[in-house]
Amino acid sequence: MNLLKILEDELSRLKSENVYKYETEIETPQNARVKVNGKEVIMLASNNYLGLANHPKIKKVAIDGIKKYGYGVASVRFICGTQDIHRVLEKKIAKFIGVEDVILFSSCFAANEGFFASIINEKLGSENHKDVLYSDKLNHASIIDGQRLCRNEFVDKKIYNHSDMNELEKLLEDDKNKNYRFRFIVTDGVFSMEGYLANLSRIVELGKKYNALVFVDDSHAIGVCGKSGRGTPEELNQFKKIGVITGTLGKAIGGASGGYIGASKKIVEYLRQKSRPYIFSNSLPAPIVFGAIAAFDLLENDLSLVSKLHQNTKSFREKISQLGFKILEGSHPITPIMLGDASVAQNMSKLLLKNGIYVKGLWFPVVPKGEARLRVQVSASLSKKDLDDALNIFEFVGKKMKII
Ligand SMILES: *Cc1c(COP(=O)(O)O)cnc(C)c1O
Repeated sequence: MNLLKILEDELSRLKSENVYKYETEIETPQNARVKVNGKEVIMLASNNYLGLANHPKIKKVAIDGIKKYGYGVASVRFICGTQDIHRVLEKKIAKFIGVEDVILFSSCFAANEGFFASIINEKLGSENHKDVLYSDKLNHASIIDGQRLCRNEFVDKKIYNHSDMNELEKLLEDDKNKNYRFRFIVTDGVFSMEGYLANLSRIVELGKKYNALVFVDDSHAIGVCGKSGRGTPEELNQFKKIGVITGTLGKAIGGASGGYIGASKKIVEYLRQKSRPYIFSNSLPAPIVFGAIAAFDLLENDLSLVSKLHQNTKSFREKISQLGFKILEGSHPITPIMLGDASVAQNMSKLLLKNGIYVKGLWFPVVPKGEARLRVQVSASLSKKDLDDALNIFEFVGKKMKII
């Protein structure tokens, strides 16, 4: 078989079925407004929720980081890749999200990959064990891949329908008397295609009742949800009640890269010994560590960034609905504008770009058939004028396409 020929066929198929991912080249830093093809457009598709990706303070401390600690450390953590600043950042995140300790990874993808197998594949406490994972159907790809690394002989994987708490409870109840070693309930804190929050209060209750460790990936929530940006546990009154919290530094927290797992001291200490993406992959470089520390400092000292994000979100959600667009209700800056047909979503995102808005369309198989949408993401970096301009453009394009 000819590999290149087969790959070409597959690429043609992706294009003909409209699932090929085209990359638009942006010619400026990430910001409220960016340049594409020499033309300025309003950015409504980034995870730059707090506008820290190009923030003067963050840029300055990142440069300070290089000056004081160099560009990289050329090592994994346990050989010679731990600088004092790594522990400073870990302790800072731990305090911020309300856990005993934190372990850094090169990304949240790596963190999620590094969690499940490091426990489930190990003979801890019993020769012949079986663990069980209860996982939301819409959980992030990195959670799914992390769970795939667990050997089937050691785990039962049970997928419940998105946020279906009755189904989750039934699964837990059915398994109540089974001889599982460890039980885990695993969920995204915020689901990225909908902007929906997990039902954490119910999940925490069920975790307690059935002795399951609750694992929450708060990547779209850290710096975003809750009055002070501490994530879904803060917003949903479950602060300090979650067993394991993972998150990214690549979204609200400066948007560069890096991820973490927060948990009890013992779990974190154990992961430093056994988690493969931690042990066998390079530690975070100083500019990123410095940038992240500064981002958490900003959040700790000043609630105005988060409250600006919440105000912008509330205002955008209200006004886009008033224009007659159908959105998924909620409070998260992820605001899906529902269009139904994939071709409508495609045409509308193209027309919006032409008129000055950068936003991405999502359609099957990323979301269910007939539920194509534009996924708007609001940011604190948007000024009143940016928001007004964006709404005017939405109105113009929506009327032109006879959507509103
Ligand atoms: C973005 C995201 C990740 C991946 O984070 P990276 O740090 O970019 O690897 C993982 N989980 C969820 C839920 C995410 O939204």
